[in-house]
Amino acid sequence: SFEAEAIAGEYVAALEAFERDGLDANVSVKPTGLGLKLDYDLCKRNVERVIAAAEPTNRFVRIDMEDSTTTDDTLRLFRELRDEGHGRVGPVLQASLKRTVADSESLAGASVRLCKGIYVEPESIQFRDDGAVRTSFVRALETLLDGDCYAAIATHDEWLVDRALELVRERSLTPEKYEFQMLLGIRAELGDRLVAEGHRLRIYVPYGRQWYEYSLRRLKENPKVAGYIAADTLGRLVPGR
Ligand SMILES: Cc1cc2nc3c(=O)[nH]c(=O)nc-3n(C[C@H](O)[C@H](O)[C@H](O)COP(=O)(O)OP(=O)(O)OC[C@H]3O[C@@H](n4cnc5c(N)ncnc54)[C@H](O)[C@@H]3O)c2cc1C
Repeated sequence: SFEAEAIAGEYVAALEAFERDGLDANVSVKPTGLGLKLDYDLCKRNVERVIAAAEPTNRFVRIDMEDSTTTDDTLRLFRELRDEGHGRVGPVLQASLKRTVADSESLAGASVRLCKGIYVEPESIQFRDDGAVRTSFVRALETLLDGDCYAAIATHDEWLVDRALELVRERSLTPEKYEFQMLLGIRAELGDRLVAEGHRLRIYVPYGRQWYEYSLRRLKENPKVAGYIAADTLGRLVPGR
């Protein structure tokens, strides 16, 4: 619990640094890092502390989605925080999970990041076929856009980026209704193209000592996260790309 509080403190410090340096940046928090598996209430208090630091400067707090043992609690956390009046907070959905289209329907009006999902789950609950994941991504994105959500489209898959652009065009959505998100240093030319075409692009940048130690620990628990972390580390080593 001490470590979870320390990680919350790191997010608060990052928010203070954004303000000091005049950066247009938000934070993205990992619920298990903030204690979700230890104690739900502890995790919620830690997220509330981060939100309390973000709200005065109107910064957004994204709640990352981790493995499927955390999905229900993570969505519950988001819903409780929203219902308690925190408007600048939003969850993540993973298109590879079979439940995600239904979850998209239940999140009308929210700001939702949609990604494929990095965790390998039991086949009973996850699509394994790339085509099925893409189909699920498109269906979930349609549902979010039709449910008046602000969609954060987090992918480097050019096929999906192009499909997403068609969906926003079909609905005549203006660029402040959605954004693309990518990891620092990955498929930068695709990101540049989106920006040149007038779309919003947010870059996800891992940072800090806690992040590094936490990622190493997660890597030991689940070697499948390796590609994700390796890419993140690369992003940190070549900043500004
Ligand atoms: C901003 C952002 C936030 C995310 N948040 C979450 C989250 O909260 N929970 C979660 O489970 N997952 C999260 N992810 C990870 C996501 O689920 C995917 O695992 C990841 O984005 C790869 O899928 P893709 O859609 O880019 O498609 P892919 O088909 O995997 O990749 C398309 C192409 O992009 C390139 N590429 C993609 N990823 C990498 C990489 N790591 N290193 C090198 N090249 C790469 C490759 O050229 C690849 O061919 C996030 C991703 C992004 C961009």
